Amino acid sequence: MTKLKDLLSEHWKADEFRPMQEEICTSILAKKDTLALLPTGGGKSLCYQLPSLLFEGPTLVISPLISLMHDQVAQANTKGIKSMAFNANQSLDNQLDNAAFGRYKLLYCSPEKAQNSLFLARLSQLNIQCIAVDEAHCISQWGNDFRPAFREIKSLREQLPEVPVIALTASATPAVIIDIKEQLALDNPNEFKTSFARENIALTIENTQDKYGSILRTFHGIKTPAIIYCSSRRETEEVNQLLNTNGIKATYFHGGLTAQQKQDRLFAWHQEQKLVMVATNAFGMGIDKGNIGLVVHLTIPASLEHYYQEIGRAGRNGNNAKAIAYFSPGDEQRLIQQYLGQLPTPEFIQKCYKSLCNYLIIGHGEGIEQEWRLSFQDFCRAYKFSPKKVDACITLFDQASIFHRINTNRQDASCQIICSPTQFKLELEKAPLSHSKVLQFIGREYVGVFERETTIDLDLITRKSKVSFSTLIDVMEHYKQQELLSFNYASSDIHLIGIKPRDDKHTLNELLRNTELIHTTKIEKINSMLSFAKQQNRCKQKELLVYFGESITISCKLCSANECVPIKKEIPIKDIAAQILDYVEQGPLATQQLKVSLPHLSVAELAEGLAWLERQQKIKTNALAQIIKL
Ligand code: ADP
Ligand code: MG
Repeated sequence: MTKLKDLLSEHWKADEFRPMQEEICTSILAKKDTLALLPTGGGKSLCYQLPSLLFEGPTLVISPLISLMHDQVAQANTKGIKSMAFNANQSLDNQLDNAAFGRYKLLYCSPEKAQNSLFLARLSQLNIQCIAVDEAHCISQWGNDFRPAFREIKSLREQLPEVPVIALTASATPAVIIDIKEQLALDNPNEFKTSFARENIALTIENTQDKYGSILRTFHGIKTPAIIYCSSRRETEEVNQLLNTNGIKATYFHGGLTAQQKQDRLFAWHQEQKLVMVATNAFGMGIDKGNIGLVVHLTIPASLEHYYQEIGRAGRNGNNAKAIAYFSPGDEQRLIQQYLGQLPTPEFIQKCYKSLCNYLIIGHGEGIEQEWRLSFQDFCRAYKFSPKKVDACITLFDQASIFHRINTNRQDASCQIICSPTQFKLELEKAPLSHSKVLQFIGREYVGVFERETTIDLDLITRKSKVSFSTLIDVMEHYKQQELLSFNYASSDIHLIGIKPRDDKHTLNELLRNTELIHTTKIEKINSMLSFAKQQNRCKQKELLVYFGESITISCKLCSANECVPIKKEIPIKDIAAQILDYVEQGPLATQQLKVSLPHLSVAELAEGLAWLERQQKIKTNALAQIIKL
């Protein structure tokens, strides 16, 4: 199959396929339904992009990430794969014409668009050769990002019975896989899965009461790039400060930063001017950095899926890397409360929906394909809602295809200097340095600012005059009060696109029905994460893989589990006993089996442990010479 290799080098400038890519492409080209389970960064896109180059007509790519679709299309185009995405800005009719005659290889669309009646009516004209369902776990209520609209992809299939489907995901728990196959009606699919094992990452759960102390010990003299995941924006700022005041070069990243700030910090970290990125889980999509040596979780995340994805950013270059999660006794309660605390009730969801519609001035029956820019803070303030709950609601609206949400953090600002140039000069002379830098820059950069209201770029000003964003806003507000200038500033951080029309009685029905299920699934996931963190005996790598449906028997010998910690001279008797109990709990056991299961314990240690447990009346030996738990 040199042909595939040629395309790989022509369009990806690469010589080798990553594991399974070639097999998956071959399966698609044979027009077989295909299921591809590759970890994040495993190169899933290539698996449908490359075959698309060999088909007569386009491949329809269904992707849930509206905000990323634009990037995906741009990336495919730069690779020389002609692509377009259906969007809400232009008429669908025109876009369909374009799709039908534009000789595209890839047509990206949201699952909602794929249900549109006009779209379905004209589907047969598009000559679609393959349907790729990216992030296919969204179809499953057992996955992390259940999106009911994905379930309607099946009806698309009914219209195109001959067209093969490829489902791609990095979330491979057995229940999710069963759901994907069923919901997409995959016909005896070829299944490809690479192991999810990340053998070069040493997993550690560190029990600690003093997390900031642990951070300083861990990061003292750090040489490799690292990420610290925090559970709130405030925490990222605190930890960033802690590191910097202790001479460790760090920067921070969260969803509240402007696009420019994000870009600058990402750049500084990529260039390794800053070694440590302190971030919320908003950080991660699309970071392609091979040499991350350490990923730390200040608090364990809300699911093993998140944990796996986040630690997986370490050691992409194959070098040894570490992942440390701190765990303190209070975390269990905190995690559950944090989750339950922000969980919106059905009543709140209804109230929030109504208020949002009123705030955006959406009339009954209206709202489809309209777009709004929303200042999240202003909205919460106007209705005295908790931002966390509103955030959770908007996420639910997005998943339920009521609104699409795109986080933008746009700053719109304009200004006019209304005093005379002479007075302006005078002010400049007496102003403190931070103020004068700002005024000087605006006066110089924006021609016409003395005559008329002019749009100004706040990000640019903060960078050029080296003041912080909040100082800049303070300066502008100060001179506005002095009537030296006019200043209008609105920040919109969320961009909403309407999908369903407003109907206070019916629009939310399905969402409200699903909410409870979504919540119980989330709680189960938190519990799996917690028991992973709490159990100290069995190999962490092994436990993680079992969760993702892999059965392996070899322990990693790198992680913090007792099973894998190198044999110490003196293992405390209680630890030995705990390890033995862990196995005995699973049923009666012969001593011989115990030796096999706990190879790192010497015969003497085992004997001592057993004797101790017997004295404590925790175990006894039965008539078959097996050890049983009491
Ligand atoms: P996934 O969707 O599985 O998380 P992507 O498809 O986004 O991963 O691929 C991650 C990166 O790896 C992309 O930059 C992609 O171009 C690159 N890539 C994929 N396959 C190969 C390959 N065989 N050789 C080199 N780079 C590859
Ligand atoms: Mg992907």
